Amino acid sequence: MDFELTDEQKMLRDMVRRFVDEKLIPLEQEYLLQKREDRRLRTRHEILGEDKFYQLQEEAKNMGLWALWLPKEYGGAGMGFIEYLIVTEELKKTFIWFEFGGDAPHVLLEGGQNMIDNYLQPCIRGDKHYHGVFAQTEPNAGADPAAIETTATWDGNNWILNGTKTFIGEAEFTDFLLLPAVTDKSKGHQGITLFVVDRETATRPGYKVSRLIETMADDWTLCELVLDDCPVPAENVVGEVGEGFKVAQKFLVVRGRLHHGGWQLGAAGRCLQKAAEYAKSRTTFGKPLAERQSIQWMIADSALDLHCTRWIAYHCAWKADRGEDVRLESAMVKLHADEMAFRLIDKAVQIYGALGLTKETDLHRFYLTARMLRIAGGPMEIMRKVIARSILSEEYPVI
Ligand SMILES: Cc1cc2nc3c(=O)[nH]c(=O)nc-3n(C[C@H](O)[C@H](O)[C@H](O)COP(=O)(O)OP(=O)(O)OC[C@H]3O[C@@H](n4cnc5c(N)ncnc54)[C@H](O)[C@@H]3O)c2cc1C
Repeated sequence: MDFELTDEQKMLRDMVRRFVDEKLIPLEQEYLLQKREDRRLRTRHEILGEDKFYQLQEEAKNMGLWALWLPKEYGGAGMGFIEYLIVTEELKKTFIWFEFGGDAPHVLLEGGQNMIDNYLQPCIRGDKHYHGVFAQTEPNAGADPAAIETTATWDGNNWILNGTKTFIGEAEFTDFLLLPAVTDKSKGHQGITLFVVDRETATRPGYKVSRLIETMADDWTLCELVLDDCPVPAENVVGEVGEGFKVAQKFLVVRGRLHHGGWQLGAAGRCLQKAAEYAKSRTTFGKPLAERQSIQWMIADSALDLHCTRWIAYHCAWKADRGEDVRLESAMVKLHADEMAFRLIDKAVQIYGALGLTKETDLHRFYLTARMLRIAGGPMEIMRKVIARSILSEEYPVI
């Protein structure tokens, strides 16, 4: 067993950390202020400014932070799951929403040369932008993705998509998205197919962002999409027709859960650091808070919580890099990370007192995002369901 990161992984961590410290954290106050002053600004891109967003991506590119997850043979950096976790954890130490550019979903490699030429390579060149959009949820299908009702019917030339997707992130900005639809209702989840929907060719009214849905987290606006006779060519099927559920499980589910793990680790780690600094600087009854046992215990419990999540997350990433099936472990990571971050950030707010509840500090940003993540990407109950099913079916040795 080796618990050390490699030298390259440490260099990557330090580089991303420096980028976050020098380029993103200094923008935080302005970001908060803009949101407060201009109620019309609704999306994360709009708050940072699209120009600023792409300029930062360019700066990161010059540091080698580009197309991180795509294989080297296509011009990507070919990073694995451990690196994915390292980058996500560092990047989420700020609440400013940012992602490194040049990436496309791995799952496109299942789709043949067309996917590589039309989507993967243009993303690496910077001609197309993919913002991680997987449009699965529908008004009648959330936690249960097999219940989706959006249909795809072959008309002899194209697949014609009809239906509504809801609570979708970043759909306004992405050039293309991944979207599952029912191609054969009689086959249940084996009748679901995964498509790449290209916003350029999905002619209007074929594809429309019909509504922006504001959430409790000021700057996290979600979208409702309406597909109205939306044409998608045959070559935009990812994997085989009817295998969308399987393909999504294999390529999107584990990565998504690890993303959540890294996200919650980064956010919680920053909040713990803030709480510890504040406890040292704030005096009540003639002593710094940091000298009170009840505050020390909150800090100790938080540090332990963070540490546990970090190790199950990195262990899961390590197994995933070895090609092992980590559907169970990734559910544990998401569940533990979601519960840990919310507990930890709540304690940080408590240590700050009233100040922690105001918009004068940024704890509320982390707090609200941590709350959102307990439902996004699969609610905690579903993670428990996955874990329990695995243990009860004796797929996984408990001891
Ligand atoms: C911030 C955010 C971003 C999102 N981004 C996307 C996106 O980009 N793409 C996308 O497709 N979706 C996205 N979603 C939607 C998200 O995936 C769904 O909200 C989630 O899967 C739950 O679906 P639901 O909200 O319809 O809850 P429902 O399915 O209606 O469930 C409601 C609640 O019931 C409980 N529950 C449900 N089933 C069970 C069960 N079997 N056992 C026990 N309890 C159960 C859970 O507590 C759940 O929270 C996003 C959601 C949020 C909050």
